[in-house]
Amino acid sequence: MSMQFSTGAEVAQLCETVAALHAELVRYGLVAWTAGNVSARVPGRNLMVIKPSGVSYDDLRPDNMVVCDLDGIVVEGDLSPSSDTAAHAYVYRSMPDVGGVVHTHSSYATAWAARGEPIPCHLTAQADEFGGEIPVGPFALIGGDDIGKGIVATLSGHRSPAVLMANHGVFTIGPDARAAVKAAVMCEDVARTAHLARALGQPVPIAAEDIDSLYERYQNVYGQAPVASTNR
Ligand SMILES: [Zn+2]
Repeated sequence: MSMQFSTGAEVAQLCETVAALHAELVRYGLVAWTAGNVSARVPGRNLMVIKPSGVSYDDLRPDNMVVCDLDGIVVEGDLSPSSDTAAHAYVYRSMPDVGGVVHTHSSYATAWAARGEPIPCHLTAQADEFGGEIPVGPFALIGGDDIGKGIVATLSGHRSPAVLMANHGVFTIGPDARAAVKAAVMCEDVARTAHLARALGQPVPIAAEDIDSLYERYQNVYGQAPVASTNR
C-alpha cells in the first residue's frame, strides 16, 4: 500500500528519514522488541512524524509512520502513534529549537536511571558531546504531560542533549532526528564505559575548565567544513 501524503513532499521525506533512523537503534543495540522511538518535527509547521505503536522494527516503513500535530493528535497514518507521543509533542511545543526526539531503554544508560544517578563526566568523549554530566529527570508516569514536563525541565538550559528519566530510560533531543539518534547512541556508549570504570575502581574526574574547552572545541571546530558539518 502506498499512502498519499496530503501533508506534502516534505512530510513524505521525513517519514523516510524517521523510518530509516529506527534501524540505527537496532544496529547499536539500544532497543528490545518494540520499545524505543524516534520522531522528527516538520520544520515550520505544527506537525511531527513518529513511529507507530507496537510495530516490529523489521516492519517499519515510510508509509506506516504516523503524522501527528503537536498536541499528539493523528493527522495522517493508519496506525496508532507511539505510546510516548505525548512526551515528544510536549518537547516540541516547549523547545522550539528541537527538531528531533529519541527515546530508548538502552541497558547501561537505563541502569544509571534505575539508580537515579547522573553519569559524571570522566571521559573526553562525554565532555565533547554532553558538555558535562548526563542529568537525571524526575520519575513520571506515562500518559499525560508529566514525562514531557520532566524532560523539558531537566534539559532547558543544560548542555546535555540526553536526560535519564528516573526508573525509566533515556530521552534525547537534537536540531534534527539524526542528531537526537546520535545523542542516544553516544549516551549508551559513555554510560557503558562509565559503568565499567566504576566497577573496577574510582574514575578520575576531568577539571571543569577542561570539560568546557573540550565541549567548546567539539561543538564549534570538530568535523568537516561547514557544508558537511551536519554529518559530523
Ligand atoms: Zn519508555
